[in-house]
Amino acid sequence: MGMPAGHAGVMVQRHWDGIMHGWLSLAPDRRQTLRLRRLAFALLAGGGAHALVCWLMLQWGFFRGGPSLFYPLFLAIGLGHLSFLAFVRLGANRVLRDPAMTEPLMAWSTLVLLVSALFVDHGRLGLMSFFFAVLQQGVFRVRQRQVTRVAVGAVAGYALVLLELETAGGGLLNPRVEWAQWLLFATVTTAMVLLAGEIGAIRLRLRERNGQLAALLERIQDMAVKDDLTGLYSRRHALELLAKACGQARRGAFTLAVAFVDLDHFKRINDRHGHLLGDRVLIRFAELTRRYLGEQDMAARLGGEEFLLMLPVQEGMPEASRALQRLLDALRAQRFMAAPALEVTASAGLTVVGPDEGPDQVLMRADRLLYQAKAAGRDRICQAESA
Ligand code: GH3
Ligand code: MG
Ligand code: MG
Repeated sequence: MGMPAGHAGVMVQRHWDGIMHGWLSLAPDRRQTLRLRRLAFALLAGGGAHALVCWLMLQWGFFRGGPSLFYPLFLAIGLGHLSFLAFVRLGANRVLRDPAMTEPLMAWSTLVLLVSALFVDHGRLGLMSFFFAVLQQGVFRVRQRQVTRVAVGAVAGYALVLLELETAGGGLLNPRVEWAQWLLFATVTTAMVLLAGEIGAIRLRLRERNGQLAALLERIQDMAVKDDLTGLYSRRHALELLAKACGQARRGAFTLAVAFVDLDHFKRINDRHGHLLGDRVLIRFAELTRRYLGEQDMAARLGGEEFLLMLPVQEGMPEASRALQRLLDALRAQRFMAAPALEVTASAGLTVVGPDEGPDQVLMRADRLLYQAKAAGRDRICQAESA
């Protein structure tokens, strides 16, 4: 059977992905998995590319020390890479201040570069330019101070490599060229560190801005959902909740009782005792709903001194009626410091959501019942089943 040419490769790739995925995702949490994946990529891709370049140098006869040095050295380096992976895989990195271990990883990679630079006499600068990839790893993840530390280490280490080769007795092929290249390396590294500082500052500003935006978004969401004065749900949100609850009630999850509540002669309260006391009354009523209604119940301020209550009930109307009456009694019993003789009452229209009803029909009926309660002398509940 003829397999497409690339098929075997794809299969191998998939198999590899499967192994990597299984191994990597054994790590208990998502952030840790992400760290491990990033580390594996940095070590496999970066370390692999570096090893490959050095191996090519070896093939071309540019790796001083030959195979007998090359293979043990890169075996040791590979083991170092693996121990990084194992460290994170075992979760030991979690106790560190930076669990991503960016700076240790940068330092380790730099050390590997410097050691290999000791043995590659041709194109030492080319090999050292791997360092810019290492540095770039740190720019977005660690502080400027850490980036600077690693950069100073690399430049000084490079100088030490040259000094070591020089004192080893003519180890440098052309000292002037080598030192000129070192100067170039030091200059570019300095420029990159300065750039990293700028990027770091931008990153900090962005993070700050993100924090502000998140706080603002939370406030806006709150404003959209809640009424400023009472902290009860806003009209818009209440109507959304009602539509949702009607749907659930239709599916028979529970019976939903809906009540329109309007404070009695509220205008008179404002006129006689001032707007401020009027506000106090509204706030007090909101507090009472929180105290007297259950966890599942919902209270919203539709506007002015009008409120909407939604009460999921087991036993239907009588249960809702009792709960609502307790609330209205509690309101009547309230006393206000600024107007000791004031007694606040409210009227309510109470109904339950019928089998095939939407929110509009329910609200209309509750409104009509409220009107009846007002007409019948206020301070009472008028109730009717859906029919
Ligand atoms: P009824 O018993 O028929 O409901 O009479 P009422 O006076 O309560 O009803 P009306 O609708 O005539 O008056 C409502 C008043 O509520 C008028 C308005 O000034 C006042 N009001 C609306 N919003 C607020 C508010 O946020 N704070 C205060 N203090 N008063 C408000
Ligand atoms: Mg009123
Ligand atoms: Mg009103």
